[in-house]
Amino acid sequence: MDNAAHPVPGVDYPRTFLEMDERFRTDEACRDYIRRLRWPAGFICPLCGWSGEAWETARGLLRCQRCQGQTSLTAGTIFEGTRKPLRTWFMAMWFVTSQKNDVSALGLQRVLGLGSYETAWTWLHKLRRAMVRPGRDSLCGTVEVDEIYVGGLEKGKGGRETETKAIVAVAAEERGKGIGRIRLRRVKDVSANSLLAFVQEAVAPGATIHTDGWSGYAGLMAAGYQYQVSVIGAGSDPAHEVMPRVHTVAALLKRWLLGTHQGGVQRQHIDYYLDEFTFRFNRRRSRARGLLFHRLVEQAVAVSPAPYSAIIDTGQARVKQQQE
Ligand SMILES: [Zn+2]
Repeated sequence: MDNAAHPVPGVDYPRTFLEMDERFRTDEACRDYIRRLRWPAGFICPLCGWSGEAWETARGLLRCQRCQGQTSLTAGTIFEGTRKPLRTWFMAMWFVTSQKNDVSALGLQRVLGLGSYETAWTWLHKLRRAMVRPGRDSLCGTVEVDEIYVGGLEKGKGGRETETKAIVAVAAEERGKGIGRIRLRRVKDVSANSLLAFVQEAVAPGATIHTDGWSGYAGLMAAGYQYQVSVIGAGSDPAHEVMPRVHTVAALLKRWLLGTHQGGVQRQHIDYYLDEFTFRFNRRRSRARGLLFHRLVEQAVAVSPAPYSAIIDTGQARVKQQQE
């Protein structure tokens, strides 16, 4: 569990907006922060693997002392290729992590004074992508797992309504009567293969999986999990009493999607919204906004860049490519 309400020893991050604002006035200060998060134990050359100090060139590139190869500090991060000052990105990350729920592209555009809505929209998607922590810890203990349906009907071709619901697998740790950490992932169906792949990605082996009687979970024991079944049937407890945590998470997720995004979530983007929801939910007790900010920067420098063309997908969003 994140213990973010208390300062974490050895982690250096701004505690308040003022501290953040003061600290990241210059590009150099932002670069220094990124550099220490990206290479906490010192520079490692991505070209030759050498580790040690790197020279910084006049153009702000890092030059390896062994192979003389040059590396951009932001290559491979969500900041790669940006034309905006890093300070603006830092402001955006503070804004995103300091809002309890509602972050819209319009809100971000206004607070940062960005010239275009498309830039704000792209930034939000990049930041959502950074909210998945690579190599994050698996859930453990007893974990409720179930599938839910998210989304609704959309007007399709010729005005006919098309089914656009996505199936989302939910895993929620049981912590006393409450909920520990969660994981969410869109699955293509509720087959044994899809559900087992989700459980194996989200939950540590040996944990107890608590599910309903759906046959898709029958392979869990062979995969090394304990298996606890609460059959929901006629005459037994309703679902929200047997699987209260999944039920709560599902209700909060649906309300959040409706409230924050006015239900206007396109299915090809739902993965990013699930990641954002998970990021916020798992840190919901944290009062230390600065630590959330720090974690987001940490993750932002650890992920691959998401070019605008990869985000907009196939022709759904008809907005022309912008230089961000
Ligand atoms: Zn090198």
